[in-house]
Amino acid sequence: MKVAVIGGGWAGSSAAWTLYRLGCQVHIFESSHVLGGRARSQYSKRLNITADNGQHILLGAYDHTLRLMQEMGLDTDSLFLRLPLRLCTLNEDIDFRLGRLPAPLHLAVGLLRSRGFSWSDKWGLAKVARALHDTARPPQPGCTVSQWLERLGQSPRIQAQFWRPLCIAALNTPPGQASAELFMAVLRDSLGSDARACDILLPKVGLTQLWPEHLPSAIRRHLGHTVRQLKTEPHAVYVDDHGFDAAILATNVPSALRILQSQPPRTPVRPGAEAEVESYIRALQAFDYAPIATLTLRLERPWRRQAPIRMLHENVSMGHYGQWLFNRATFGLVPEDQHLVHIVVSDAGPLLRLPRETAVNALLEQLRAEVGAPDDLPAVLAHELIIEKRATFLATPGLPRPDNATPWPRLWTAGDWTDTGYPAVLEGAVRSGVRAAKAVHESLALNGSH
Ligand SMILES: Cc1cc2nc3c(=O)[nH]c(=O)nc-3n(C[C@H](O)[C@H](O)[C@H](O)COP(=O)(O)OP(=O)(O)OC[C@H]3O[C@@H](n4cnc5c(N)ncnc54)[C@H](O)[C@@H]3O)c2cc1C
Repeated sequence: MKVAVIGGGWAGSSAAWTLYRLGCQVHIFESSHVLGGRARSQYSKRLNITADNGQHILLGAYDHTLRLMQEMGLDTDSLFLRLPLRLCTLNEDIDFRLGRLPAPLHLAVGLLRSRGFSWSDKWGLAKVARALHDTARPPQPGCTVSQWLERLGQSPRIQAQFWRPLCIAALNTPPGQASAELFMAVLRDSLGSDARACDILLPKVGLTQLWPEHLPSAIRRHLGHTVRQLKTEPHAVYVDDHGFDAAILATNVPSALRILQSQPPRTPVRPGAEAEVESYIRALQAFDYAPIATLTLRLERPWRRQAPIRMLHENVSMGHYGQWLFNRATFGLVPEDQHLVHIVVSDAGPLLRLPRETAVNALLEQLRAEVGAPDDLPAVLAHELIIEKRATFLATPGLPRPDNATPWPRLWTAGDWTDTGYPAVLEGAVRSGVRAAKAVHESLALNGSH
């Protein structure tokens, strides 16, 4: 069985690995010269290093991703720094951390010892934890995270200082627009599950080196190859004229749309599936996107802070756009001589409206204001601002997300945007890739392709 995978992000790479394990001959077509897609390592001229395009956090609950890495023979214990979940500001006026206790004690003790919350806020948080397991009363379809939190009696303060950062980190969508159902799915698999599921996993190596680069060389890589044309036929699929038994389209949504629409007119579809084509295309056209900005700073000397991730006090009216500070050198996650810190703006829409240099200065000023003591922050020697304009899709309520199966013969899709039950996250991408690969293999085996 000869299968093409178009797109070498985490979805395409996990599809390629799964197909290879199932005995298929696999070819990955990837536009870029590196694998990894939106979670990749790239060379930065300004910083003169290879660094990730954005800071990525994995959770202990990312079981498909961890399993896949273990199948590949990678040692997940040594490739990640595993830390208990902690949401803490720079000056520690808000500090919420989970203990390493069995569920639900981890949450109860976490709430009791958290700092910066009133007793009524803590009671409110406990109500949300209980609601995660209340299957009898799921959020109404179309309900946003803000509406759901209102209903659960969360105070405006806790919504702004706790739930908003968490919602933006998890869904990359502001609570007023975000789907309560998807937010619950993430919370249920993390906060609502055992303590290890909530652990934060920080890669100790670049995202491309973490596992996509370890794909076996038998998987043919067509790097730097942007697929322009797809032709699906009842007995074969053609990817820019290379013939395959089947293909998995694992690009981002805009590329998937372009490629699907590149098919010659009157391309045959599965019998009776003409109406499905229209609704499949319409579903892809309905996606909207959210940007993420990451400002990486190279400091003059190491800057020792207790935690590798801190919340920043976002306040757009004061020009404070930053939401998170990553200081991975604290735990030796990057070679000490790099002295890098990263300011992350997950809800970067407002920042995008500023000229680049103004945006950089606003983030630097915010950091200095939050650090307090002027001598504490080492001098900034160089910086690089990376803005991923279509970092993720907006996880709004009721967004129809296509399945891996398509109306076209011998064609499946994979990507964080498919119907994974998760928002746009790495685990969703991997799950979709594995699922699409298994569906392809099963279908080809049934059809007797060798
Ligand atoms: C800055 C940033 C921070 C993030 N933080 C987190 C986080 O902390 N935790 C988390 O879980 N998730 C995070 N995400 C989301 C996560 O990165 C994505 O969900 C995931 O990488 C999506 O993988 P994918 O394979 O579905 O898509 P993509 O990574 O977009 O892969 C699609 C691939 O297809 C290729 N391609 C497109 N068109 C063509 C073509 N015509 N021919 C050939 N190849 C093509 C692209 O180059 C790309 O490599 C973040 C994303 C960004 C951008």
